[in-house]
Amino acid sequence: MNAASQPASLRTRLGCTLVVALVAGAVDALDVRLEYHHRGPDLALFLESATLWLVFALGALPVSVIGDAVLRRRTKDERFDSAARVGARHLAWTALPVVAHSRLDNFTGIGGDTSALRTFAPWIELGLALLTLLALTWLLGRLLQSWRPRTTLLASSCVALGLGGTTALRLEDDEPSPGVAGDTRPNILLLVWDTTRAQSLSPFGYDRETTPHLAELTTSATRFTSTRSVSCYTLSSHLSMLTGAYPSHHGARMTRQRFSQSETPTIVRQFREAGYRTGAFVGTDVLRAQSGIGFAFERYDDQVDPWVTYTSGWAFVHDLQSLAAARIPQLASNGLPHWFQDFQRPASDVLRHALEWIESDDPRPWLCFINLYDAHWPYLPEPSALNKWVRPYDGPVDGYAARGDRVVASRHKLDERDGLHLSDLYDAELWDLDAIVDQFLGRLDLGRTAVLMTSDHGEAFGEGGRHEHADILECQVHVPLVLRPAGGVQMGIREEPASGVDVAPTLLALAGLKPAKPMDGFNLLEPFDPVRRVLVEDRDHPNPRHVKLALYDGTWKVVRFGLGSNERWALHDVAADPNEAQDVSAAFPDVFARLKTELLEFRARWGADDEADSRVGPIGNLDALKTLGYTDSE
Ligand SMILES: [Zn+2]
Repeated sequence: MNAASQPASLRTRLGCTLVVALVAGAVDALDVRLEYHHRGPDLALFLESATLWLVFALGALPVSVIGDAVLRRRTKDERFDSAARVGARHLAWTALPVVAHSRLDNFTGIGGDTSALRTFAPWIELGLALLTLLALTWLLGRLLQSWRPRTTLLASSCVALGLGGTTALRLEDDEPSPGVAGDTRPNILLLVWDTTRAQSLSPFGYDRETTPHLAELTTSATRFTSTRSVSCYTLSSHLSMLTGAYPSHHGARMTRQRFSQSETPTIVRQFREAGYRTGAFVGTDVLRAQSGIGFAFERYDDQVDPWVTYTSGWAFVHDLQSLAAARIPQLASNGLPHWFQDFQRPASDVLRHALEWIESDDPRPWLCFINLYDAHWPYLPEPSALNKWVRPYDGPVDGYAARGDRVVASRHKLDERDGLHLSDLYDAELWDLDAIVDQFLGRLDLGRTAVLMTSDHGEAFGEGGRHEHADILECQVHVPLVLRPAGGVQMGIREEPASGVDVAPTLLALAGLKPAKPMDGFNLLEPFDPVRRVLVEDRDHPNPRHVKLALYDGTWKVVRFGLGSNERWALHDVAADPNEAQDVSAAFPDVFARLKTELLEFRARWGADDEADSRVGPIGNLDALKTLGYTDSE
């Protein structure tokens, strides 16, 4: 029979569509499963992915028919319409937009920065990917062309189901160290309330009693009242807590994840080798294990959204939807053009998972790192907390702040009253969080568990004309730090300048361990240099003009804006001027000159690291960052 004499039947094409969906869905799901190997097995990932790809394959069906009609006129190959070749070409048409999108997406930055697409690199990468796809299509069609249609479809389906079925397998990590019965070393809890500024907590001077349970905890703990986060960004800040190293030292940025365990290891491996079990439970996608932060945790619980949203197929849908929502406002809601995707999950969920892990039957002491994302934008407290803490307000601003629909529609510029309203909503969220955390701590044996509570950065509600946390103003980097050794010891208030880099050496000391390598931070259990300098680095920008660096000497703060030829400097006295409205460098030239030199020398320890790089890091998913407001606009 001459197969070229008539086009493939509709039945064959529909069969191919189904097989293409299964094959592409399986490959995409397997890719996700391998990337997120620390997560538990879940067959739903394959089913969701295959369903999504079925939609793509159906969409590609007309293109495939028309494409074949055009190509058939130019070919003399009599096997052109064999099921294998029809299927291979259909697979190529289906995968084409997703492959193209995933290549180019590696070069688009935070806030829709597409400037890197004006260089050659992304287009060379795209061309190579398309050539590979073309070669695979040709090879697949040639390999299977002698098979009967039914055999081809059946065999391909079996391979796809087999591949997809691997999502139900458990991928084992390293063997955990065995426990020793009677091990009485303390458990260690690192509890990070994301986006919690010190000035909004009564134990740190706030006049509203929004966190009574935290206040109660501090009666058997030490409060460090002059603590600065190392950064205003979540990932860099958490990595500093776990490495004891400043961002310029550990190297990771949100825009270019390249955290290297070999140069600046986190303390987790050390805990693990010392016989601790290690678990992490995070409330945000920003702290996904792929950034390198999950290294050496026996359990890293970072799944925030449904599995399918982690596939390349979904990333394509998401960006299409974002593009559409930017043009058709009805498709967006309060700055969230996302279907089924939150990029964050509530503390109740995070703590439930953590508690299950803590209470599991394992004799080893544990190190548990918890990130609670509830206080982060948007500010959406429970109704009871809202009634208790939010004062009457009749403006257009709601918990979505400047990104709220009413604010955007009316082009309203946020004023002082709006800032106060947002701060009220934030207070109410902290009230909710405080109660949930108290229930959780009530389930722990605090006689045997040391707690270090802190935050990764603060938040602004109009101070200095800023909102959220894309800057390094005092309200954005002055964070709480509460240290309660097992059993609790009242040590009162300590005013020495503390930093996020002190968390790692302190956690080690609580477990009787010493840093394997020298760290930038100090052990807070011991007295330390009260005149130490503290560094804050906001390096998470592809554009070097947006980088901000600060060095603290007591209440003096020298700030460097931008790198290279665009740099600008300022000096502030944060005690007299916490919103940093006045640059007093001209009034105090000696202090200014000294701190400028010190800041440069401080950072020179880690070599020149001021280059910019527009390429996004290997995990590539910047949707979460865009959603959460990490924009890089002028
Ligand atoms: Zn954060």
